[in-house]
Amino acid sequence: MEGRAVLVAGGAGYIGSHVALELVAGGRKVVVLDDLSTGRRDLVPADAVFIPGDMGDGALVRRILAEQACDSVMMFAGSIIVSESFQTPLPYWRNNVGAGFAFLDACIGAGVRHLVYSSTAAVYGSPDRLPIAEDAALRPISPYGRSKLALEWALADACSVGDTRFAALRYFNVAGADAMGRSGQVSPVASHLIKIAVEAAVGKRPGLSIYGEDYPTPDGTCIRDYIHVSDLAEAHVLALGHLERGGESLVANCGYGRGFSVREVLDAVQRVAGRKLAIDIGPRRRGDPPALVADSTLLQRILGWIPKRDDLDLIIRSALEWENRDL
Ligand code: UDP
Repeated sequence: MEGRAVLVAGGAGYIGSHVALELVAGGRKVVVLDDLSTGRRDLVPADAVFIPGDMGDGALVRRILAEQACDSVMMFAGSIIVSESFQTPLPYWRNNVGAGFAFLDACIGAGVRHLVYSSTAAVYGSPDRLPIAEDAALRPISPYGRSKLALEWALADACSVGDTRFAALRYFNVAGADAMGRSGQVSPVASHLIKIAVEAAVGKRPGLSIYGEDYPTPDGTCIRDYIHVSDLAEAHVLALGHLERGGESLVANCGYGRGFSVREVLDAVQRVAGRKLAIDIGPRRRGDPPALVADSTLLQRILGWIPKRDDLDLIIRSALEWENRDL
């Protein structure tokens, strides 16, 4: 039933806020639930209802769903840094699985009909073949990847009975920022390549390291499929529309189907920023597969998703503009 409110858990974070902007632009009523542990209040669209709180608080979630009349939800809240998940695995299980399950349980119990879940390419681990289709083996190699897959499976099991349907979107490497400057990547401690490189380009950090140049790739550095956050946000809105029109549950990769190496990304950042960065070569980072590239034909075929910003320079330029504005 279109026109009903959408609850966006984690809507003050990087990806959640871009999706909230997209939903509001489409005329939807949006309710953001976020504990602001990593998100920021000013990223929540002005037209959205903001409720501070924990997605793992089942009583709160049930109250919001009833009071705000939401029958669709999106789940962005969670812990997302692969390397950190090796240092502190339990918070990853607590936030992504424990709190995620409490949220799911509250939603299913309250009769929510449509659920969109932020999954990740990390569920594939180190794939045998590229590009990666959704039916590739699921062999996560980090606590982060395992925690995200665990909840994806819980979601699929929960939706195998009853009337709730879900879309699990497996993100590849998300980067860039809203063209109107209303949101961008905010991380108290940045860990993602493009974010770190643009921070270096605007002088927020002295330089950066390449984590390993002895991978079995053409230039020895890891290859990733970088997708613009606004194209990803559009995929969420399409996925929700699909479920609301009675479409089947689905699991879909979100990427462009082409990869860039760490060196290629850093060359592009230097070109776009017009300045050289101080770059050194460091050791490999734990949990980094050599190459991840999405086969996203399913997303295009089932949802009619059309990538509009498949251009590395454009992605970097928008990230750079955000970083310059968000000083
Ligand atoms: N990377 C790097 N230096 C950095 C941050 C990342 O060399 O300061 C590399 C990282 O090892 C990986 C790629 O950039 O090969 C993408 O990492 P990111 O953390 O952006 O995303 P991930 O693929 O881990 O989700």
